[in-house]
Amino acid sequence: MIELSKRIMELEESPTMAVMAKAKALKAEGRDIVGFTVGEPDFDTPDNIKEAAIRAINEGKTKYTPVGGIVELKDAIIQKFERDNGLSYERDEILVSCGGKHSIFNLFNALLNPGDEVIIPAPYWVSYPPMVELAGGVPVIVETGDINGFKMTPETFKEVITPRTRAVVINSPSNPTGSAYASEELTALAEVALEAGILIATDEIYEKLVYDKFEFVSIASVSPQVKASTVVLNGVSKAYAMTGWRIGYAAGPASLIKAMAKIQGQSTSNPASISQWAAVEALNGPQDEVKRMVEEFAKRRSLMVELLNDIDKVSALMPEGAFYAFPNLSAYYGLSFEGRVINGSGDMADYLLDSKELAVVPGAAFGSDAHLRLSYACSEDVIKEGVKRLAAALAALR
Ligand SMILES: *Cc1c(COP(=O)(O)O)cnc(C)c1O
Repeated sequence: MIELSKRIMELEESPTMAVMAKAKALKAEGRDIVGFTVGEPDFDTPDNIKEAAIRAINEGKTKYTPVGGIVELKDAIIQKFERDNGLSYERDEILVSCGGKHSIFNLFNALLNPGDEVIIPAPYWVSYPPMVELAGGVPVIVETGDINGFKMTPETFKEVITPRTRAVVINSPSNPTGSAYASEELTALAEVALEAGILIATDEIYEKLVYDKFEFVSIASVSPQVKASTVVLNGVSKAYAMTGWRIGYAAGPASLIKAMAKIQGQSTSNPASISQWAAVEALNGPQDEVKRMVEEFAKRRSLMVELLNDIDKVSALMPEGAFYAFPNLSAYYGLSFEGRVINGSGDMADYLLDSKELAVVPGAAFGSDAHLRLSYACSEDVIKEGVKRLAAALAALR
């Protein structure tokens, strides 16, 4: 028996991946599973991006690149920040990593000493707390809730700041709730962070996936002072349907970016050269495909959220962005089906999968047991069928 590190023994496995694995196994057995678990766009990577990658291969761009990314990609990222966010960065303030997740991993490892605290509003993306812990830090969870539209207020933020606080994580639009902060809300949160002297880590991976004329604002653009104490985390995975290509990036103060690059230099080295060239095309090339995907997601979002709210005692907020609905099903907790009591989102997810072959992710995975996360990165037919199954399963509870 090989003895594993204490650090790893304490690390939780990704719960979203666990549910997906279970649903996949049932599907392989031939069961008619309808899935709302996917955490990635169901669209194909646009052709112009694929062609850029093929060109890169044919031109022999298949060797090591600088650890922090090729200058062409850094410049494309710099132009993206200028164009979309009104932010100017220099090359030494940009780091390209192997996916957005990797950028965040590098950040916490570059920033945290043992016991340092990172404030994370709940519901949160599953990976933030374990990544903070893996880096020796302590996640400090702030509850938000449906009433506040799943947003942290400046007051609740202030309350959890201690002398050990090093950073706050902002994820707008959010995975799992889809909720996004308006400009004034970001300004108010940024003031609190500035006053406390803590770093703002803003995960903007869903920036492009916003609906109903919602205007995305990066918290880094609130003022030059805020920009100086913010690291922006983004990537091409969600906006360009490029989850498998593994390109993410970070922008922030040069000293921090350099430290993050140091970790990368001793672990993964550069992200895949071919993927980097594909990302250059994603950022510099035509953006029509993004628009098309957003229009499609917008239709599905309305459909799913409206159908959910038609179910008795289910409430779902209309999300501003991303591709998830996050309905509250807690009115059904305590009820049972054939002696099986539903005591929370985990029980609910198991019940839905077993009785109706409907795969969902329990809200508990995101620090919110009252909810389920339902991804609408699927066809309208799947949405209709899945919500029908959900309604039937809930109606059968006594
Ligand atoms: C998908 C996602 C990421 C990054 O994903 P990568 O595939 O690693 O680029 C980061 N943050 C959130 C909240 C996400 O949902």
